[in-house]
Amino acid sequence: MARCNFCDADFNTGPGDVLLVCPYCGTAQTTDGVKFKDHYMIRVHFDQGEAQTTLLDWVSKQLGAPEDLPATANFVQYEQIWYPFWISRVDAHTEYQGMGRDATFHDEWPQRRGAYKRINFFWKPESGQFTRRHEINIAGVKEIDEDIRNFPIPTRAKEFFSHAHAEEFDGKVLHSNMTEEQAKAQARQIAIDRQTKLVLQEISKIESRKDDINVGETFLIHVPVWELTYRYGNKKYKASVSAPTGYVIESQYPRSMSFRAGGIGVGLIMLLLGIVLFMIAFDVLGLRAMLSGLGLGPDSLVGGGAISGGLLSILGLILLYKAASRKEAKESV
Ligand SMILES: [Zn+2]
Repeated sequence: MARCNFCDADFNTGPGDVLLVCPYCGTAQTTDGVKFKDHYMIRVHFDQGEAQTTLLDWVSKQLGAPEDLPATANFVQYEQIWYPFWISRVDAHTEYQGMGRDATFHDEWPQRRGAYKRINFFWKPESGQFTRRHEINIAGVKEIDEDIRNFPIPTRAKEFFSHAHAEEFDGKVLHSNMTEEQAKAQARQIAIDRQTKLVLQEISKIESRKDDINVGETFLIHVPVWELTYRYGNKKYKASVSAPTGYVIESQYPRSMSFRAGGIGVGLIMLLLGIVLFMIAFDVLGLRAMLSGLGLGPDSLVGGGAISGGLLSILGLILLYKAASRKEAKESV
């Protein structure tokens, strides 16, 4: 429980929540009751009905989705969750020294231009410096779906957070598990890691480096996502749809019976073929002798037969499992 320092209301908080948004007046505040001003949002452009229509439209275009799905699916749960993200602009300047790989080329083949008989690789000292601006985006809650965590945020469209706007859709605005200081420290580390990657594109071994990392503008932004559950037949499927853009971030959906049956058929054929190839390769049941008798000379098949037989069997098993499993398909856009 926490008490809002601005409207005096008591509200619920979870373990680890350190930057709180009052559900009654919408003020973002620290646990000490200090107002946090750099609080933004991305506006909702798809209401519940539009999000549902967009989702069914998307699902019906997926491979193997049942044709009657849009007409017969029933939405049983819908909630608009506002996920917090910390966005930091980080300016990073790195000077580095180290060793790079280089090569000299000798004895070009006369018939093949650009191909050499001898290539000598060697190390050579290299140094350089560069500046980059990174926009770093860190989810403010630990428990968040990977697809939602990695979904790009159109920060250019940000507006100051409006409690009234979130209330319009009965949105649930999540507190952040991270303070501004923690977000900045993490952004700094992420920027250093990105700089390291860039240095390693230029040289192979870093011997010394100097980083000047400047974590600039940092703000909290809440992004609304429709969390929908629909029923098709006797099963339920979950989906997340971006409320600002209508993109289907992720969705489970059923596969039609005919699609599954097709998968089982192909899987079985591959499995059988694989087993036969395996049997030839390892001469089970004297199959090889039989083929030799037929003048098919299967000796050349032995090595490749074992490998392709194994691969085909595995592919067959995967297809069979996918087709037969009751698990829903889950795909990200
Ligand atoms: Zn309040």
